[in-house]
Amino acid sequence: MSDIQSVAVIGAGTMGSGIAHVFAKSGYPVTLCDVQQSFLDRALASIRTNLGREAAKGKLPESDIDPTLARITPVISMDSLATTDLVVEAAPERFDLKADVFRKLDSILPESSILATNTSSISITKLAALTRRPGQVIGMHFFNPVPVMSLVEVVRGMATSDATFTAARGLSVKLGKTAVEVNDAPGFVSNRVLMPLINEAAYAVMEGVATAESVDQVFKLGMAHPMGPLTLADFIGIDVCVDILRVLHEGFGNPKYYPCPLLVRMVDAGWLGRKSGRGFYTYNQS
Ligand code: NAD
Repeated sequence: MSDIQSVAVIGAGTMGSGIAHVFAKSGYPVTLCDVQQSFLDRALASIRTNLGREAAKGKLPESDIDPTLARITPVISMDSLATTDLVVEAAPERFDLKADVFRKLDSILPESSILATNTSSISITKLAALTRRPGQVIGMHFFNPVPVMSLVEVVRGMATSDATFTAARGLSVKLGKTAVEVNDAPGFVSNRVLMPLINEAAYAVMEGVATAESVDQVFKLGMAHPMGPLTLADFIGIDVCVDILRVLHEGFGNPKYYPCPLLVRMVDAGWLGRKSGRGFYTYNQS
């Protein structure tokens, strides 16, 4: 399938709403599916706000906001996706849940359609094996916030065909993104490299080597990172970091990926980063 005309996104949360935003802005009619109308309403409101921000910065004509939003069709049932060329699944990071979504999509979509997942760490190969079209299953790993971040890690499962890869890469480019090709392995490249950095930074704080501020300053000023690893961990969510480290630990069987006890204690305390108002730093939630 090289000529993708219609797309759908499953899950209207942080990532799904951002992915729908960039599809609609690039001219694609996009069906956005979630399990409750209130989640879809919240997603559309946040997309409107974000398009408004882009207009205020001169990146989008004000007059394009309504036509862009009109390209997004919110639905609460996957049954209406029967003619969709490509679906990006952005449901929560739980294998059983994604497995149900994949089986259902496989039974609804035309044989030629592509099934992409935005998973951060679940095996593309395993999800593909649940379907009758493993060659047409691929990872399209977008980054948060999707309208701002230019990378899509395009992840080939063991059975992903060249045609599927070419279609996913071409689509990423049409969205104004840069596609980087990687193969299916725990954490792909992004999280496999980033999470050990965050974990080691947490150990440095736990062992009293330096404060969180000092660790972050070392990376900002010494390595020209735009933000330090602990500020980034707060953005991602400390719970999400711990979950990904567990996937790496299980997937590689290597103790170096074992989550730092400080990160685990922070999750126990509900210090999840920006979203809970406290992580390595405190945030004003108003
Ligand atoms: P989220 O919790 O914000 O959103 C998930 C949405 O999926 C929710 O609105 C939920 O109601 C909906 N949902 C649950 N079951 C569903 C179903 N059966 N059908 C349709 N919708 C369903 O999660 P998120 O942060 O947007 O993450 C989504 C995916 O993207 C995960 O796989 C995550 O690992 C990945 N990811 C997240 C980030 C990030 O920074 N948040 C970055 C890259 C990738």
